[in-house]
Formats: sequence, structure tokens, C-alpha cells
Amino acid sequence: MKELKNKPETVSDLQEYLKSLYGDVNAGRDVEYIFSYLFRNVSYLSRAIPRKQNCVQNFIKTFSWLFAIANKLEIDLQESYLRKYPEVCPYCITSPCVCSKTNKKPVSYIKEWKIQEELGIKYNIARSANPNPSIDSFVKKTNDLYPANTHIWKAAGPTFHFFRLLEELGEVHEAYTSFCKGTKNKIEIENELADCFAWILSAWGIYYLGESLQDSFITYYYNSCPVCSSDPCKCEAYSDRGEMLVKIEELRLYRDKVAELIEAAPDHSELLKSVIEDLEFAEKQGNTTVAISAIKQSESALQKVSGELKHVDSSAKSIKSIISSATAILQSFNWLS
Ligand SMILES: [Zn+2]
Ligand SMILES: [Zn+2]
Repeated sequence: MKELKNKPETVSDLQEYLKSLYGDVNAGRDVEYIFSYLFRNVSYLSRAIPRKQNCVQNFIKTFSWLFAIANKLEIDLQESYLRKYPEVCPYCITSPCVCSKTNKKPVSYIKEWKIQEELGIKYNIARSANPNPSIDSFVKKTNDLYPANTHIWKAAGPTFHFFRLLEELGEVHEAYTSFCKGTKNKIEIENELADCFAWILSAWGIYYLGESLQDSFITYYYNSCPVCSSDPCKCEAYSDRGEMLVKIEELRLYRDKVAELIEAAPDHSELLKSVIEDLEFAEKQGNTTVAISAIKQSESALQKVSGELKHVDSSAKSIKSIISSATAILQSFNWLS
């Protein structure tokens, strides 16, 4: 993305960028392949959020797989969203939504054709008022339209939110298979993708209130595909890094700190060398269980070194400072919990 003169401003720009980045590799993959990665990332997000972990990457990957399905099926996600949510809730035709009071119906009786007409008019007004809505405006718009999402999340946690998102994922899959069978139109997939998009946007807006989704996208894709660093992406199928390897850089930084300790605390060099070997082994294996075990053992080793420090020792200060920076790196390993 750093090569781009104009960074993506709108949802459509972003979809176009991701198409240029991943269109070639995804041409050889079917919708089921892409859907499975979307599902995986939503499930990781639903695990990371209650643990209050940093999940910017999870969010970006989740959105990106959603865009990948849209690109694959030649659906304009921005259009689908705006048609489904044209400034009012499509069920109660009100903003903010009052569905909980009306049981997903308009406040007073409106004929079905009139509802459709009204939604069309609202869509045209929204489009002409703002032909190029920013990515972040979609986040705000969704949570302004559905304030109950935030209230429920704050009162009872994110479980209900992810339960609804999971339900929507199922509906995307059903709409897609029905479309393949010829029993549903593509518009049904568009509507379901728009619903998924809305729930994920809403989750971002609640969890990362005030943080720019657009900036996070640009940061994530700044050096093109974050896995192969190419534009267009040249990743082989199934070449994703997995959850643990995303943090491999931090594992390396941590190992460097332990290596520094060998010089500062030569009395413990044998123990520290074993720790380094184990951390290298964990990096090579790329296996979360191995990494957790190696790190836990390394923590005990650091405690031992720290516990045996002699206060008169002139190197004690530098040893302590190395250990505290190593510990600080460990704290960023939120995938360990
Ligand atoms: Zn409503
Ligand atoms: Zn790649």
C-alpha cells in the first residue's frame, strides 16, 4: 500500500485494493475456502475479545476475508451495506433502531411496497448527501443506528454480539449454497454479507471506540501482503501464518534480551544458553504449545537469575534492567493466556 498515491478512503476503495492484492491468488480458490478462513478469524476474534487482547490484526483479517468473498462473487460490499442500511434500520424504518420495542416491525403499519419504496428513497438521499463515505463513517453509522449493541455489550459482555455474528455467517453460507442451487438470487448473499459487515463494524466501534479502522487497514497492508510482502500476493494456498506466528517477531526480541543476559550474568550462562536453544526451537517449530512451554520455563530461569543477584554486585543493576525489559516483552504475548 505504500506504493499507492491515494490510500483507500472508502469501503469501495478498500475492496478494490484487496482485489488487486489478492484477486490473482483467490482466483484459484473457491468460496468455501475463503469462507472457512472468514469463519476461523471470527472465531479467533470471539476468543480474543473477552480476554481483552489486542485484536486489531484479527479484525483486519476478518474484514479482509469478508471482502474476499465479496470480490469472489463480484459484490460491492459498500453498495450492499448502504442499500440494506440506508440511514434507517430496514425493519423498523427508524434511526436509531427501535426493533426491541416494535418486534422488528415499523412503528405503525406500513404496506410492504411502501417500505421498499421508502428504503429506496432513503438510500438515494444518503448516496447523494455523501457519495464517498469514509471507512470510519461506516463504523459510526452502524453504532449510531444500533445503540443497543453497545448497551448489551457493556452490560453483558460481547457473547451476544458474537452469537449474532455467528448466526449471520451461517446465513451467508446458506444464501450462497441456495444461490448455487438456483433457488435464491444473488441479492440474498448481498444482504447477508451486509449483515455480517454491520456486526463486525459494530464490534470494532465498541471495542476500539474512537480508533480509526482506515488507519489500521493501511498499517496492516502498508508493506503489501503481510505474509509474503508481495503485491500482488504470491502466497501458496494454506500459507497463512497462524495465530502464534504472528507474534514470532516478539519471540525473537525476547530471545535477544535473554542473549544479552548471558554477558551480564556469566555465572548463569549455561542455564541461559539452554533457554535460548529452547526459544529457537519454539520459533522453528512455529507451534504454540511448544512456545508456551519454552517461555514458561524461561520465566522460571529468569526468576532464578534475578533471585540470586548479589546486591553489592555492580552488574546487578544492568541484569535487573535486562530482565525487566524481557518481562515487558512477555507481557505483549497476549496469545499465551
Ligand atoms: Zn430496527
Ligand atoms: Zn501473500
